[in-house]
Amino acid sequence: METIHTLEWMKQVARQARADGRLVGLVPTMGALHEGHLSLIRAAQQQCSPVIASIFVNPTQFAPNEDLEKYPRQMEADRAALEELRVDTLFAPTAKEMYPEGFGTYVTVEGLSTRLEGKSRPGHFRGVSTVVLKLFEIVQPHCAFFGRKDAQQARIIRQMATDLNLDTRVVTCPIVREADGLAMSSRNAYLKPEERRAAAALYRALDKARKEIAAGERDALRLAGVLRRVLGEEKLLSVDYAEIVDADTFESVTRLRRNCLAVLAVFAGKTRLIDNMAIEEKEGELVVTL
Ligand code: AMP
Repeated sequence: METIHTLEWMKQVARQARADGRLVGLVPTMGALHEGHLSLIRAAQQQCSPVIASIFVNPTQFAPNEDLEKYPRQMEADRAALEELRVDTLFAPTAKEMYPEGFGTYVTVEGLSTRLEGKSRPGHFRGVSTVVLKLFEIVQPHCAFFGRKDAQQARIIRQMATDLNLDTRVVTCPIVREADGLAMSSRNAYLKPEERRAAAALYRALDKARKEIAAGERDALRLAGVLRRVLGEEKLLSVDYAEIVDADTFESVTRLRRNCLAVLAVFAGKTRLIDNMAIEEKEGELVVTL
């Protein structure tokens, strides 16, 4: 596996692959890799060669009060995990090169970026869409792979790709979970043992809502109530939001419809955890995916 730190070199390598008629796949990450990230790599390898994984802890998506400084960094372990999967290239640019002195251009997907995660984390999605657009421009991938764990992020990137006529296909991959259902996240490492135990309630809440839907519940407000009730049973958790939203607009809905998401954001101590469940209509049936 080749490790590339400079933008110019990355551009050259990726453009050469494209010129050779190869299908370039990009998996953008912030490192501290876990099975969730690795599942994106495997999905990319099924469709693309070469596969380029990027690791960049993007400062512009962290608010001043957030965890940029203490975000887990483990480059050597990450590199070993990517080597083992036979990833072609690790792209690990420096913040100085990504955001040199005088940097002043940001991209914002209006509307979608102000709801839910965007409301709780002002400026977050502006940072995300800016860095992803930069990565897309440097690598010019045919396909880029994102996790449904960050469903709003994936939706925003897809909208950006459409709006800006980008040549990159945005692929969304399933959520990978721990044995007790907690969605894998680099931030899970922050959890104290008792917070880690309490965090399993996110999955339990979604699973309870799934059972209610299977039993015929279609009232989205009642389902949101179910989510809050299960989360409320854990004293160590405080709920930021728990809602049923339209999967395209991320606006709240009052009744389940064609394409929805149950979305959660919860604090366990200082650690913010998110999760979601897709509710889709397929051949006249509601199919729920946790
Ligand atoms: P991050 O390093 O947190 O920025 O995540 C990089 C990519 O991995 C994003 O597209 C995430 O949605 C995805 N990802 C993170 N956790 C998971 C998970 N548990 N399952 C699937 N994808 C994930």
